[in-house]
Amino acid sequence: MKQEIKQEIITPLWEELLRKSIVNEEQLSKISKINIKKEEIKQVIKNYPMSINPYYLSLIKNENDPIWKQCIPDIREIEDEFGFEDPLNEEENSPVYGLTHRYPDRVLLLISNRCAMYCRFCTRKRKVGIAYKTMSRENILKGIEYIKQHKEIRDVILSGGDPLLLKDLDIEFVLKKIREIKHIEIIRIGTRVPCTLPQRITKELCNMLKKYHPLYINTHFNHPDEITEESKRACGLLADSGIPLGNQTVLLNGVNDNPDVMKRLMQKLLTIRVKPYYIYQADLTKGTNHFRTKVSDGIKVIKGIRGHTSGMCVPHFIIDAPGGGGKIPILPDYLQSYDGKTIKLKNYRDLDYEYVDPY
Ligand SMILES: *Cc1c(COP(=O)(O)O)cnc(C)c1O
Ligand code: SF4
Repeated sequence: MKQEIKQEIITPLWEELLRKSIVNEEQLSKISKINIKKEEIKQVIKNYPMSINPYYLSLIKNENDPIWKQCIPDIREIEDEFGFEDPLNEEENSPVYGLTHRYPDRVLLLISNRCAMYCRFCTRKRKVGIAYKTMSRENILKGIEYIKQHKEIRDVILSGGDPLLLKDLDIEFVLKKIREIKHIEIIRIGTRVPCTLPQRITKELCNMLKKYHPLYINTHFNHPDEITEESKRACGLLADSGIPLGNQTVLLNGVNDNPDVMKRLMQKLLTIRVKPYYIYQADLTKGTNHFRTKVSDGIKVIKGIRGHTSGMCVPHFIIDAPGGGGKIPILPDYLQSYDGKTIKLKNYRDLDYEYVDPY
């Protein structure tokens, strides 16, 4: 009996890790391997919050390495002249605060604005981690009511922020309500915790999630160094619960804008049972210009993967059209010309081939 009571008082490891997150320049400067410009960081985090939990921090090996660049604030974030607060016009296509209905049959519903780590390149920099922009339960209920009223919606994508930063009970509250809606076929969760705080994936969470199938999770890894024993365990638990896992990567200058790094990342994702889904060209978000690569770099990445390794490794390279036009796939020039009969092609080794329609 005594034992049981004690169990209940213990805070889960993931909450403990989150509580120990680094959120200001003073805490950051105390970490031996981190050599920072305190004054600059102080300025940046007035605009865009920082939060790095001890797990993600432990992945940094050297100053300015790919992990560092994703989580340590950079003065260039507040020096940007160019860019948009809301590059995808999510607020305009939003009938209810936190819900974006852009495509015919699916909606994006933000249910949290917190994350286990605030990525410096985030498209939703304008709202993540900012206290007064939290999603209230009232707001979420309005979003769910909208979904109920719109019978054309068959797919709900829960996003944020990170939905899995909510407590199990709060996540279940939302899942249950959505599952009660007859016309909803699938639910998807977009979460970066398998990468940034894999300890969040617990047996209890998985047992709850699997009651709401068909449920899909898309996670977000950007570099092979993010794939660790812990993230492998987290993805394994989710997969064992019958949840198909996909991955969305953002193409980032100095992090992964290299075909070999990207190929390795995609291969390693498959080893932890995650199927590469999208690689995004970085959006035109204000405060993220130093991360942006040229579109040609993304094309080179796809060219460096397709044919050179398992087809399962190849994601779609996407430009999310500025202003809210939606996701558009960009392909290397495999198709050189097609006159309705003869198609001229290039293969993965740049060799020319021709195929003629037989009819
Ligand atoms: C990305 C996105 C979706 C989902 O797109 P899929 O291509 O179906 O994965 C839905 N709504 C919005 C607003 C999005 O940005
Ligand atoms: S986890 Fe996603 S929503 Fe959160 S800061 Fe990173 S990119 Fe933005």
